[in-house]
Amino acid sequence: MTKIHKGSCNCGKITFKVEGDPKWVANCHCADCRRATGAPYSTYIGVLKSQIKWGTAKPTSYASSEGVRRTFCDRCGTPIAYEGIRWPDEVHFFVGLFERPEDFVPTSEVHAGEKLAWVPLANP
Ligand SMILES: [Zn+2]
Ligand SMILES: [Zn+2]
Repeated sequence: MTKIHKGSCNCGKITFKVEGDPKWVANCHCADCRRATGAPYSTYIGVLKSQIKWGTAKPTSYASSEGVRRTFCDRCGTPIAYEGIRWPDEVHFFVGLFERPEDFVPTSEVHAGEKLAWVPLANP
C-alpha cells in the first residue's frame, strides 16, 4: 500500500497529502531560506507534483527570486513550499508541516557554506 503523508499549515486552512515517499530530504542553510522562514535552517522534502493532493485551499505564492516561488498560507503565514523552474516537476515542502516529520530524515546539506556556525551538520 502506498504511504500517505498528511500535512497542513498552522491554522489548518491549507491541507495536503503526499502519496509515497519523497525523492529526497535535505537541509538548506542558505540566507534566503533563513529569511523566508525565520529559522536558522530549513529541512525540505522534495516530491513530484503528481504525488500531491491539495485540500480545498491552495497556498498563496510570491516570486522570491528569478524563477523561484515560495508559497505560504494567506491566513496564518506558515511557509509551505519552495518551487523553482530548475525543478519543474517538484515541490519542496517544509518538513515541519507534516503530521509525522520524523518520518523524513535529511541525507544531504545544501549551501553548507552559509550555515550558522552553531548549527551542527546532520550529514557532515
Ligand atoms: Zn494557515
Ligand atoms: Zn535555501
